[in-house]
Amino acid sequence: MNFEFATATRIVFGAGRLREVGALSKEFGSRVLVVTGRDTKRAEPLLKILHAGGVSTTTFSVAGEPELSTVEQGTESAKTRRCELVIGFGGGSVLDAAKAIAAMLANGGELLDYVEIIGRGRMLTKPSVPFVAIPTTAGTGSEVTRNAVLASSEHKLKVSLRSPLMLARVAVVDPELTYDLPPALTASTGLDALTQLIEPFVCARANPMTDGLCVEGLQRAARSLRIAFADGQNKSAREDMALAGLFGGLALANAGLGAVHGFAGPIGGSFAAPHGAICAALLPHVMGANLRALRRRAPDSAVLPRFDQVARWLTGDASATADAGVQWIQQLVSDLQIPKLSAYDIREEHVADLVARAMNASSMKANPVALTPEELAGALRQAL
Ligand SMILES: [Zn+2]
Repeated sequence: MNFEFATATRIVFGAGRLREVGALSKEFGSRVLVVTGRDTKRAEPLLKILHAGGVSTTTFSVAGEPELSTVEQGTESAKTRRCELVIGFGGGSVLDAAKAIAAMLANGGELLDYVEIIGRGRMLTKPSVPFVAIPTTAGTGSEVTRNAVLASSEHKLKVSLRSPLMLARVAVVDPELTYDLPPALTASTGLDALTQLIEPFVCARANPMTDGLCVEGLQRAARSLRIAFADGQNKSAREDMALAGLFGGLALANAGLGAVHGFAGPIGGSFAAPHGAICAALLPHVMGANLRALRRRAPDSAVLPRFDQVARWLTGDASATADAGVQWIQQLVSDLQIPKLSAYDIREEHVADLVARAMNASSMKANPVALTPEELAGALRQAL
């Protein structure tokens, strides 16, 4: 056995704990860049709390998924206002943008010096300026991961800025912030959380520490995602989903993912589909492809009983087998009204290219079995 576990220095969890952000930010400085989503009004309660705590704020709004230029603009804005810390307040895109800005404020040079694939891929050498991550959705787990996904529209590609030095100083996970999420967003982010609990549990780099988080998170998501979708104000369901999102982030950052996320990068880079909806549409079909490949090529694999365990936690039936788990997810995806990928104009003519690009994705390396291009294409076609 061989593993490492790294995460945010401090995780603050609980309904209403946003109120503590003024005092905890003050420990890091008195001028903060607050990175928010498109609707900056949502951040007003946070700004009030910060101002009451004696912290001055500059707001930077990120509409949609962050581009490299978004991070460059945010970094400039923070430099001009001499910000000492960065707070990300929003969904995964906002947290990733804030995380990248905090890294660029501490490390000199240009963003392209450090970005993989399209940049020079140099290592970040200095810890980010203090970064406080406050998710307002329950799913991505970005508050505890060490990478920021950035889009390059020029290259039709998503690339990561990645370093353990980018981990948040504090992650504040307050389920109250998710009570007003509309059902469609609850569904897509919640299914991303579920995917990020299943893929690390069956992946090639699973370890006992991430296993424990996956078991706990999976059971909470299984019992609460439908409830949170139907009744957003249900406090215990929202609390479960906030934990599921957090635990998925902890698991993926310290174990790995698999073919669903291998596809999610190239698809998200080329088509205007939300990350969670892509993962949800693919999840049952990739699980099916993995099961068939394992049964055929590695029938004694220790991963196969893990798929049975996942099925038992999802269905609550102690005798359920892996296939029942796949069916349960298929039903959930349909009940939560997740569209097929064809709804985003992804068609047969795109399959070969997406498969080729997915095979090179870093998430693919942790998939429990090496899937052939034909097997990957089959799973993708089923999701169209
Ligand atoms: Zn994901």
